[in-house]
Amino acid sequence: MPAQAASQVPSAPMGAPTVIDAGHGGEDLGAVAAGVYEKDLALAVAKRLAAVLAETGTGQGALLRDSDEYIPLDERVARSVAVDGGEFLSLHINHVRSKKPRGITIYVYGKSSDRWARKARKVRKLTPLAAPPRQAVLASIRLANALVRSLRQEGLEVEPVRRSTYYVLKNPRLPAVLVELGYLSNPAEAELLKDPGYQDRLARSLAQGLAEYTMQARRKTERSAVTGR
Ligand SMILES: [Zn+2]
Repeated sequence: MPAQAASQVPSAPMGAPTVIDAGHGGEDLGAVAAGVYEKDLALAVAKRLAAVLAETGTGQGALLRDSDEYIPLDERVARSVAVDGGEFLSLHINHVRSKKPRGITIYVYGKSSDRWARKARKVRKLTPLAAPPRQAVLASIRLANALVRSLRQEGLEVEPVRRSTYYVLKNPRLPAVLVELGYLSNPAEAELLKDPGYQDRLARSLAQGLAEYTMQARRKTERSAVTGR
């Protein structure tokens, strides 16, 4: 995309930063396999994404954690609201019993019987959160679709968007998506996920999707300013 677009926009074209949530941290390791922790891979891609957004001028990232810190889920939501961001992006790495599954999965809020819902309740006592506002859910779906498109354009394998009631997806103010960047349980994909070059590819492709989403959102705002709707 477009040197042209880049030269037309100032350094922080979209204003509100993308809140980037690197999953897990500290005592909460997340998945462990192939000699690595999910918490470390999520942080590596989160930092890379913030750097890419800054470098390319396509947006800005606000990292909820930039070190090996444990942050409870309710605190993550509270901090994201305090940042006054544009959207909330939580980064994780998948792990299942089988070595076969691979690829990227993106979740938005919605009723589902999947494992996320069950897992979230087990973690610890959390301040209950209501379902997020409908407008935020609709924006989350647009964001998820933009990310799927940009990741697929990059030649990466992405499953259709899934629904989950996972805690951080109930963000009361920001459109929120949770991205499982791949499967640590798949040995070939685990090797890829450890590779800084692949982490950079993921980050660039996510940045591209975010840029497309914000441009789309801005056009929408401009349209409603014109039509008064
Ligand atoms: Zn995780």
